Amino acid sequence: MSTAKLTVDLTALAENWHALDALTGCETGAVVKANGYGLDAAEVSLALARAGARQFFVAAAEEGAVVRQALGPGPGISVFSGHMEGDTALIRDHDLIPMLNSVDQMLRHMESHPAGRFGVQLDTGMNRLGMEPAEWAALRDIALAQKPVLLMSHLACADEADHPMNRQQLRSFIELTANNDVPRALAATGGLLLGRDYHFDLTRPGVGLYGGLPFTESRPVVSLALPVIQIRDLAEGETVGYGNVWTAPRPARIATVAAGYADGLHRALGAGGVMLFADDTPCPVVGRVSMDMITVDITDLPTDPDSLEILGQHQSIDTLAQAAGTIGYEILTSLGGRYRREYIA
Ligand SMILES: *Cc1c(COP(=O)(O)O)cnc(C)c1O
Repeated sequence: MSTAKLTVDLTALAENWHALDALTGCETGAVVKANGYGLDAAEVSLALARAGARQFFVAAAEEGAVVRQALGPGPGISVFSGHMEGDTALIRDHDLIPMLNSVDQMLRHMESHPAGRFGVQLDTGMNRLGMEPAEWAALRDIALAQKPVLLMSHLACADEADHPMNRQQLRSFIELTANNDVPRALAATGGLLLGRDYHFDLTRPGVGLYGGLPFTESRPVVSLALPVIQIRDLAEGETVGYGNVWTAPRPARIATVAAGYADGLHRALGAGGVMLFADDTPCPVVGRVSMDMITVDITDLPTDPDSLEILGQHQSIDTLAQAAGTIGYEILTSLGGRYRREYIA
């Protein structure tokens, strides 16, 4: 067997949802965009629904359709990108809730699906999605008369608790949503951890559910074991891999494992990445990461490994991300389609 095994711990996922939920006094949703942060939208949505989540969020209507198929009727499925041209059939057929981002989207929704639920996304300073305060001021009374089910915004700096942008966006959100009783949502994982001021009626955690920072208390959800295909001995001065970028400084024993950058293990891991033997002995990645293979220095191991772990209890998505110069979100959503995936509950 030369495909690596990716294990997704759905119990840990559910526990992370409960742990975040316990920090709030409001409803806790779940963000399952990008195919459930790369872990399979259907599998994670079902596990989160079993845990108690009733409000799901995706980036695009197409993703919402997949989640609806998995969950069946009942749970709310909201779409951050709103109601784009061409989305009407998906929104209607799968009972999705677009978070409308502009006057144009509002008009499109009212004309094409007047009976459908919707929310409104407001820009409180991130300048990525949502209605600007002036646009909202002009539209607000008309929009509220149509009974939106949610008013939401998104924080730009919530992973830095002391960043002044957090308070500034909080003030703006409170001003923009004052004097009505529509449910409100501001916080993703970072905002949820900023405390009750940021929770309103519903939170939208994503990465924390999947074991990522800034939720430091999260349980790891993914583990990834890479089978060793071949092991060889090198004399001092021999080189490894493309470009001869690594030279053995001493006689060395090198394992070649079966996964590479085509599987989402970034080329940048070549410098500074490690894999783990028997759970906790680190073995440095040496040479360049290639498309389907990575070479690892196992000289100091007591025995030859059958496989090495690159993600799991002893190396988190964020630790690996740091070695690759990126963030845990990107590690998760890069995990490729070649892994043998096992979902444990
Ligand atoms: C991705 C996203 C979330 C979830 O963010 P995390 O940092 O993964 O918790 C919440 N809200 C919006 C608008 C998003 O785009």
